[in-house]
Amino acid sequence: MTRTPVPRSGIDRIAPYRGGESRLEGRSDALKLSSNENPLGTPEAAKAAWLEVAGELHRYPSDDHAGLRHAIAEVHGLNPDLVICGAGSDEVISFLCQAYGGEGTEVIHTEHGFSMYRISAMASGAAPVEVPEVERQVAVDCILDGVTDRTRLVFVANPANPTGTMIDASEVSRLAEALPSHVLLVLDGAYAEYVEGFDGGRALVEARENVVMTRTFSKIYGLGGLRVGWGYGPAHVISNLNRVRGPFNLSTVQLSVAEAAVRDRNWVRRCFKENAACREWLSRSLAELGVLSDPSSANFILARFRDEEEANACDAVFREAGILVRKVRGYKLPDCLRITVGSESDCRRVVESARRFREAQK
Ligand SMILES: *Cc1c(COP(=O)(O)O)cnc(C)c1O
Repeated sequence: MTRTPVPRSGIDRIAPYRGGESRLEGRSDALKLSSNENPLGTPEAAKAAWLEVAGELHRYPSDDHAGLRHAIAEVHGLNPDLVICGAGSDEVISFLCQAYGGEGTEVIHTEHGFSMYRISAMASGAAPVEVPEVERQVAVDCILDGVTDRTRLVFVANPANPTGTMIDASEVSRLAEALPSHVLLVLDGAYAEYVEGFDGGRALVEARENVVMTRTFSKIYGLGGLRVGWGYGPAHVISNLNRVRGPFNLSTVQLSVAEAAVRDRNWVRRCFKENAACREWLSRSLAELGVLSDPSSANFILARFRDEEEANACDAVFREAGILVRKVRGYKLPDCLRITVGSESDCRRVVESARRFREAQK
């Protein structure tokens, strides 16, 4: 009998992450509202930075990301020594699991939580532990009930994906306070820029030794294809994450383009405003058609239907109209569709299709 190499236990149980669909058979004009991308595209300053580095590509990139870390720190009023950058916040999540997870440990995520938490935990050898939410909202007491001596990490996205809901700063503080001191709380702020005056958990990071915040360039900065994210945490945590980080994990292109983008504060303001106005109109117009959603704090809404069958039927009408949204059965929300807030005309296309769906039901 031939034997093949065998991976560490648990690797074969990982269900690989699948990105939102981007193509519709037979259509070249599909409207992609399945990955929470920025409908305004990428800021011009970022594109210019991309062209500028073309002459530098024979050089290895910075191994300490000093330029980008200082830009992030300046813009957000942070200590640059406590910032770590990765290939998307996905990579920072993976550093956290590699450094603090591993065999014999448990990593907590919530019922409808982002699937990379589970995947990265399992890749490290840790056991993912799912705890309930209450009405599609993260519930601090359910998280605390799930903590054991083996727990090392707790992942909470605030605002959350795919629900779009948010919990109060007071609840987040209560969680950080109540967790045993051996547990690291990770606050995923991928959508923090879509919330007026929200620091993503920065104050809590600075006040405590057991809280880390992650952020991304993939959403409001319109750079999902670039792959840059960052984390901010206590010195002891950042030092450990840098031990597992490869020295050249970000290319010269990634570093320069992200630096130009983070300095473009007008872009962020403009995208914030557009998103807030379009989201409000989209959720209200869908509600008038009987398609409800929880108040969203992000750049998408989670549209709720009577059941899975109705959600799938509406999805079929969207696809007929060339619109791609995200089915979220894998997030235990089979009766819902996650719809990215597009431009004003994108939102009109969505509402028109939803209206046709309702009319066809009569
Ligand atoms: C989109 C998203 C991210 C960002 O991932 P990147 O790797 O930075 O592109 C992180 N967390 C959540 C909850 C997200 O929805």
